[in-house]
Amino acid sequence: MPYLVRENLFIGNIGAAAEILQNDGVQQVTHILSVLSSASISFFSEWRSGLTIPVKEIRKVHVGDGGVDVGAKSALSPEKLLYSLEYAGHDLKLVRMAVPLRDTENEDLLDFLDVCIDFIDRSRKEGCVLVHCFAGVSRSAAVITAYLMRTEHLSQEDALESLRQSCEFVCPNDGFLEQLKMFEEMGFKVDQSSPVYKRFRLKILGENHFSGLGIDSSKLGADPGMPVEISSEVEEDNKVENIRSPTYRCKKCRRVVALQEHVVDHIPGEGETSFEWHKRRSGNPFKKSDESECSSIFIEPLRWMKAVEEGALEGKLSCAHCDARLGYFNWAGIQCSCGSWITPAFQLQKGRVDISSV
Ligand SMILES: [Zn+2]
Ligand SMILES: [Zn+2]
Repeated sequence: MPYLVRENLFIGNIGAAAEILQNDGVQQVTHILSVLSSASISFFSEWRSGLTIPVKEIRKVHVGDGGVDVGAKSALSPEKLLYSLEYAGHDLKLVRMAVPLRDTENEDLLDFLDVCIDFIDRSRKEGCVLVHCFAGVSRSAAVITAYLMRTEHLSQEDALESLRQSCEFVCPNDGFLEQLKMFEEMGFKVDQSSPVYKRFRLKILGENHFSGLGIDSSKLGADPGMPVEISSEVEEDNKVENIRSPTYRCKKCRRVVALQEHVVDHIPGEGETSFEWHKRRSGNPFKKSDESECSSIFIEPLRWMKAVEEGALEGKLSCAHCDARLGYFNWAGIQCSCGSWITPAFQLQKGRVDISSV
């Protein structure tokens, strides 16, 4: 049975969802958010044979679809299903949104949070919503925790504690807890330009690499050294942007190799813990003045890095124009001169690049 978390907001397991889908109007629920490994309604008949639930599709949204705010900078593959929306139940009166998410520590929860939170928000205004996963313990709890964090401005710990008042056995997996901590550090939103998110995205890319999925070249950043066709209006914006933020160029031939937005900052001197985000609690960890201690800068993988695109584990990074050596990359990590381990690492040695503001 479902547990009431807030007015018009329930948490439950697949059994609670099945009961509502079979008998419209249970607990006044009008909306269902399913967070299961498959978005398809057939998941229910696989779970309990003989159980068929009529549905009528409203729409399916994939990561790369226009108008969706989860795009090229997310850690998700461009063709991945973000969610499906359908009318469900005998009278097709229930609105069901289904998000495909597995309950594993490496699963990318962050990139689904916005669509889930928006759905819960709208559903509570129009009626009453059940958020459910398989056991009602990890995935649904993680989504509701994020919802409480954003709407009530609670820390990850406080939001989870508050949820436990309604349902004592909720327990998001450790990977989800870590991502909820990042969500908190980003100000209760998913900010793809923040250092926190960039490190998360690199970690996911690295995991894909090591699990044999290889490198998805659509996930490499655009080459800033290539000319782009842009309208004059955008060009004006870019000029303003370029004056403000540093550009990194090959020292030998002056080709642009990276922009400030590609830089992934780290805390100088932090050892192997530097990628355990939840331990970053002190001060402002991304203070620019600290950068002078490091002899390298670390950036996101970009399209001019041919050896990266070809799938090598490690290698040299050479200028795409003059072939001068600029640094190294290693998916298993590189140690910066300050002592920090960066994993995975795409390193430019400061002595081999010029930093200019034009
Ligand atoms: Zn060069
Ligand atoms: Zn360093």
